[in-house]
Amino acid sequence: MTEPMRDLDWDAERASVFLDRAADLWRRFLTELPAMSVARSWRPGEVRDAVAIDIPDEPLDDDELFEHVRSVMFDYSVYPGHPRFMGYITGAGTVPGAVADLLASAMNQNLGGWRHSPAATEIELHLCKWFAARFGLPPSAGGMITSGGAMATLTCLKVARDRRAGWDVRERGLQAGARLVLYASTESHAVVRRAADMLGLGMDAVRPVAADEAFRMRADGLRDTIVADRLAGLQPFAVVATAGTTATGAIDPMPEIADICTAERLWLHVDAAYGGPAILADDLRSLLRGIERADSVAFDPHKWLSTPHPGGCALLRDLQDGFDSYFIPATYTVEDRERTGGTFDFGSHGPQWSRGFTAFKVWLSLLAHGAGPYGRRISHEAALARRMGELVSEHDELELATSVSLSVCCFRFVPQGMSLDGSARDEYLDRLNERVMTEVQVDGRAYLSNAVLHRHFFLRACIVNFRTEEPDVRALLDVVVEIGRRLDAEMRPTRDDIGAS
Ligand SMILES: *Cc1c(COP(=O)(O)O)cnc(C)c1O
Repeated sequence: MTEPMRDLDWDAERASVFLDRAADLWRRFLTELPAMSVARSWRPGEVRDAVAIDIPDEPLDDDELFEHVRSVMFDYSVYPGHPRFMGYITGAGTVPGAVADLLASAMNQNLGGWRHSPAATEIELHLCKWFAARFGLPPSAGGMITSGGAMATLTCLKVARDRRAGWDVRERGLQAGARLVLYASTESHAVVRRAADMLGLGMDAVRPVAADEAFRMRADGLRDTIVADRLAGLQPFAVVATAGTTATGAIDPMPEIADICTAERLWLHVDAAYGGPAILADDLRSLLRGIERADSVAFDPHKWLSTPHPGGCALLRDLQDGFDSYFIPATYTVEDRERTGGTFDFGSHGPQWSRGFTAFKVWLSLLAHGAGPYGRRISHEAALARRMGELVSEHDELELATSVSLSVCCFRFVPQGMSLDGSARDEYLDRLNERVMTEVQVDGRAYLSNAVLHRHFFLRACIVNFRTEEPDVRALLDVVVEIGRRLDAEMRPTRDDIGAS
């Protein structure tokens, strides 16, 4: 008889002790967060030495283990949920979402197949259909939760490639037909090019379309490029419209782009990774007009719905297309569907085989908060960004880069009494503002990132954080001005050199 071995099998009592200690840390984290530094200046070696501890042969005792967890949480992390974190496009992370992650892991569902994850599969299907309906997609539409916008884009563009190539790319490969190309504006996210690379199309297959002065794709430019490409023997198959560009929140003219896609028989993919959740906000919804004509949509709950990372979403106008693009028979997953009642396997509709219950945190966040408060909060964040734009415009040492769109505000620090003009001025301001960004990021009182617009460097704040309010916006601008003045004073000799040359 083999002796039982229970070392890894913790019972409910052991689990409770462990969980209570984790919950204590979380309570403390939520209480102290607003007063903590958003970020700090660490040397990589210092962090590594502190957190990358050796894995012991015997269990670490709870005191030591939770001291380690405490240090990871409180000493060596940056907090996207901090009220003054306004960098990149990073949601705060919801409380119900964190609890859902715990419970999803506790159940340890594998959503590869319906028969071993019935409730989880039905929830994810229903959740994605609910999102699809918000965007105005038809009942045939549906989708899946992905790791983020990058994977959602790849997942959708593979379907676009397979549906629109005109030959069986899955079986015969790309070399069996003409050179496939797709279109995206110069302001589109880098993941479009990455997806083209991963699909074997080559990054060159993404044909850049010029943007207008408000950073939106030019529909006439799109039409001209398609015509020229067809004449050159290329085979266009898709257009990626961006609904909320990463740098400025610009929204491509989707109705015009959809008309071109219809006329040219091209797949319309909308990258709404950032802007998608605006569909829940009464005053922003109309900005997304045209998205209902998309063949596929990528959007990111982990951005403007603030659900914890990771969690993006890939939606297809016809969910069956996902099956046609991803199903692959295997001998080790035999199922008698008549007996099991199994209907839908996520493992046959996307690139992953085994899948976690990532949808649960998005689902519980929506159930616990309600769609109404979500929509109102998203409106509020857009209003805060517009308020930030006003504060920037009123300030003598701050300059707005472009009008505020969605919840992005791009601006730069411009010191008083600058003698430089023209390109010398821009060159100095680029260097100065780049240093301002870096110093703000390590200062710890507030956090922002950057955008490069018309080849110049701007500071960029994006409000997708339900803890941010106007005093936080004002605090961020105060920190920028304080640090900007200090750096300008330090850099002034160099500035005069440029002025003199
Ligand atoms: C953030 C973003 C992406 C990438 O999404 P991830 O969730 O970071 O993978 C793609 N497109 C746009 C427009 C984005 O803003």
